[in-house]
Amino acid sequence: MGREASASLFITIGSEMPVQTPDSEKNSAAQNVEFPPPKHFINGEWTNPDSGAVTDSIDPSNETAHTQIAAGNEKDVDIAVQAAAAAFQSDSWRRMAPAKRAQVLWKMAELIDTNRANLAVCESLDTGKTAFDAGKIEIPLVAEIFRYYAGWVTKAEGGVVPLPGNSLGLTLREPVGVCGMITPWNFPMLLAAWKVAPALACGNAIVLKPSEQTSLTSLWMAKIGQEAGLPPGVFNVVTGSGSGVGTPLVRHQEVQKISFTGSTEVGRMIQRESAETLKRVTLELGGKSPNIIFGDADIPAALRGAASGIFYNKGEVCAAGSRLLVERSIYEEVLEGITAIAAKTTVGYPLAEGTRMGPVCNQDQYEGVLEWIRKGTEEGARLIAGGQSLRNEVGGGKGFFISPTVFADVSPDSAIAQEEIFGPVLAVIPFDEPEDALKIAHSTRYGLAAAVWTRDVGRALSMARDLRAGTVWINAYNLYDPGLPFGGFGESGFGRDLGKDALAAYTETKSVWVNLD
Ligand code: NAD
Repeated sequence: MGREASASLFITIGSEMPVQTPDSEKNSAAQNVEFPPPKHFINGEWTNPDSGAVTDSIDPSNETAHTQIAAGNEKDVDIAVQAAAAAFQSDSWRRMAPAKRAQVLWKMAELIDTNRANLAVCESLDTGKTAFDAGKIEIPLVAEIFRYYAGWVTKAEGGVVPLPGNSLGLTLREPVGVCGMITPWNFPMLLAAWKVAPALACGNAIVLKPSEQTSLTSLWMAKIGQEAGLPPGVFNVVTGSGSGVGTPLVRHQEVQKISFTGSTEVGRMIQRESAETLKRVTLELGGKSPNIIFGDADIPAALRGAASGIFYNKGEVCAAGSRLLVERSIYEEVLEGITAIAAKTTVGYPLAEGTRMGPVCNQDQYEGVLEWIRKGTEEGARLIAGGQSLRNEVGGGKGFFISPTVFADVSPDSAIAQEEIFGPVLAVIPFDEPEDALKIAHSTRYGLAAAVWTRDVGRALSMARDLRAGTVWINAYNLYDPGLPFGGFGESGFGRDLGKDALAAYTETKSVWVNLD
């Protein structure tokens, strides 16, 4: 992939914060959006929920419903799984000529590009992410992921193994079958694409359950798949809650694989439930990633990386650089720099031009993040930026707006340095020696990502080798490419999305012994 195919989740520094957006600007940005109907997408058709029930999709910037989604139940899941199983058995997809299957995935990418503006507005309204982030970074990356996996369809080869005597050994890569996918609300379409694209490339059938808070773009993705030429039943979406749809999907006898992205707590439950039917499981879970700045680093670049690491998508990023570890020689300089960026980051209505940070995604998040901020102060950390709700200043009394927040002098074992806050709250911790930085980095139960900022190539590479994390960035943060695998160590989960590794996650190896006598 070329560099333009990678995505840098980089926040640009705004003018002044916060801004209150005039109603005219809010309305004009959202008025032309097209929502999917409040139905599931099963067997190539919009399908009413068995119960007839729907729930609201809430816009976190004004706390009102912008549309509704179907509230699925066990029966809906069963219908979708049966459709997927039938599609898988029918060979319509897995035995389609590889070049033709690749064309379908490529066409999906093209249709995602064509529908980018609408998809981006749906994503912004559901999540509170800015129009820039959704439309210029994330939806284009979704299309690139489909292109990347379109390329693999014709290259997923097996092997030939030397056997004794007059025998020939072959290994075949076969699709797993019906794959259940459960995704969170922070990057709804992007994280669905991480799973859907490789699973389709390998010839599987899918039942996707997006977060009940952010289902719109997953429904559109399935509809786009149908328009691109996926046979009916190959890609189904059932919307609804974790207990109503997620649990029956995980328990279903005819689902062979569960791929989950979400919290470590729910991941643990899914692992337990999946054991009953011995499903293959991939878990992408939480993190508390260390972003480590050494004294010899390019400080302005490191500061931009620190800001993007924690303020991109309001810190609702599994790999957020929520712990900033800073060598003591540059500690005060970094504190000053990061405070200045936080103070200038424009918090506002997500669809308004110039907004760099929208509201956090939902009421629970809003209350939870403010509670963590209270806790940080109670624990004795020094609040040097933000730390308050901007509901009144930005939303005129509505909306889950929180200021970009920075705590200095955070003790590595305090709660705000140990627990995933999943919001725009940075914990800055000083260190003296590289070994101390490693010790602090490894002091949580997680191991999703880490970064090192230094001009010393030896130090950069030895830190990269020693850090226990699924991704290590050197002089960068929050960079993703379809070809580079992503996943966790420790309680951040196991298995890998993206890259060639994801193909292994959606295939079984079959060995064939051929007796040539
Ligand atoms: P969550 O675990 O609450 O929910 C994730 C999904 O699981 C949702 O679709 C939800 O409806 C479903 N779910 C909830 N309970 C379930 C159950 N009992 N059975 C089956 N499904 C159930 O997570 P969230 O709040 O949506 O997302 C935030 C979390 O996701 C954070 O911890 C974050 O770190 C993590 N995350 C991880 C990655 C990664 O790649 N490692 C990426 C993004 C987010």
